[in-house]
Amino acid sequence: MTTVPALAELNFVVIPLLSASHLIPLADMAKLLAQQGVTVTLVTTALNAARFTAAIDRAIRSGLLIRVVELQFKGKEAGLPEGCENHNDVPGLNYRRQFFAAIDMLQEQTEKLLEDMKPKPSCIISDAYVAWTADTADKFQIPRIVFDGMSCFTQMCMHTMYILRDQNKIPESGTFVIPDLPDRIEVTKAQLPPHFNPAGAVSIQDIRDKIRAAEKRAYGVVINTFEELEQRYVDKFRRLKAGRVWCIGPLSLCNNDNLDKVQRGNKGSFDKEDILKKWLDSWEPETVVYACFGSLGRITVEQFVELALGLEASGYPFILVIKTGEGQAPIEEWISKNGFEERTKERGLLIRGWSPQVVILSHPVVGGFLTHCGWNSTVEGISAGVPLITWPLFAEQFLNEKLLEHVLNIAVGVGSQAIVHLGEEEKFGAQVSNNAVTDAIKKVMDKEKEGNKIRKRARELGEMAKRAVEDGGSSHLNVMLLIKEIQEFQLNQSAKNALV
Ligand code: UDP
Repeated sequence: MTTVPALAELNFVVIPLLSASHLIPLADMAKLLAQQGVTVTLVTTALNAARFTAAIDRAIRSGLLIRVVELQFKGKEAGLPEGCENHNDVPGLNYRRQFFAAIDMLQEQTEKLLEDMKPKPSCIISDAYVAWTADTADKFQIPRIVFDGMSCFTQMCMHTMYILRDQNKIPESGTFVIPDLPDRIEVTKAQLPPHFNPAGAVSIQDIRDKIRAAEKRAYGVVINTFEELEQRYVDKFRRLKAGRVWCIGPLSLCNNDNLDKVQRGNKGSFDKEDILKKWLDSWEPETVVYACFGSLGRITVEQFVELALGLEASGYPFILVIKTGEGQAPIEEWISKNGFEERTKERGLLIRGWSPQVVILSHPVVGGFLTHCGWNSTVEGISAGVPLITWPLFAEQFLNEKLLEHVLNIAVGVGSQAIVHLGEEEKFGAQVSNNAVTDAIKKVMDKEKEGNKIRKRARELGEMAKRAVEDGGSSHLNVMLLIKEIQEFQLNQSAKNALV
């Protein structure tokens, strides 16, 4: 007779794409699943594991059945420069093919590990961008649940856009309404993700097609969202996926420990936490603007000047996160020559490198989040109950902005009009003026009319987000349902095997 497997005997194998904004939510998801009592095996490479070892070690010490297994990254064999083990370190678009080739090389090692793994793997939670896990899951006869870091709203937009694309019905210019959605969403081709609006540089369309084909074979989908945020889109997406959609976010809220928040995703470059805390504590509630373009977003020096001057002219205290590394020298040069940092030092804080974003967003003085609308940042802003100033840059970020501005009504856009493809920033120069930045900030921050309404709504959504992850909340329930699904799958599989 076959018996229901105990929770600890269920082994959820989590395989993230090697990119900060994919590793972060999947490391959170690994913890979230382990918090329910199942075993979780996070599969990544040494340099990437180092990003969250401290947090995972704390989770293990607290009794969670979670472990990290390290693969050897064959970047050099794939033609990548030494030490380049993460999408964020890929120098320019020309190396993206090599990066995905190196990702493909991880398949054999992973499968060897899975063969001897104890408890034996029950399912793979795979990043959608790691396409080979579809074959691996088939080989091991286990379900593959995909995660691609988008909302149900965006999933539905993309689904419809694929249909339009295949029928050659995406207008080259002008706005059009995305059909079959619960809301009227207007876009232009120039605002669409590269799947429908390809970048001029090296095309990776064949890789995208492979990823999409693998995604179609998936058993189900996990989403970093919560049902109450976008219920009509969740329902629609769930119908499309035969019911196998689990909304288990906001994932960032699984970090209760302050150190986990501080160290989330990378080693912070702002190492003096007490100084940051002191700085934040010195302002009145809801008066500070936090500006950050995620882990990948880069802007030209011309565009940075507009951003910086716009922030300054708004008159509000601000934190501005500035990338370090390749291509940033002109920005630093402008900062020092112009005297921007010196001039704004009484109310502006520049963080160079990695900022502890969720710590900052959850501080009560933060009253507005100027974001590039990456989905992680978007959900983190929503979870903190903070209204958003939206400045989409690339990927599906314009769609996220539509959701924030036109469906949820918790944001004001700076008015950017078109995608600035990653790696092609120079081609686009400055699209947004400092006046537009100041106007959008004031609309969100001023405690009158529009700003007040937006703030109230953002606060309500923040409360809903927190309730969703509490015991009995929708996301908590969905995590339990996902685990039950896998438990039943394993039971049925064992029963089938017992018959042969
Ligand atoms: N992030 C952070 N500090 C930074 C930059 C980014 O903690 O200085 C985190 C942020 O909290 C989010 C992720 O990196 O979890 C960025 O993901 P998102 O989807 O917003 O954007 P992407 O990096 O994919 O453009």
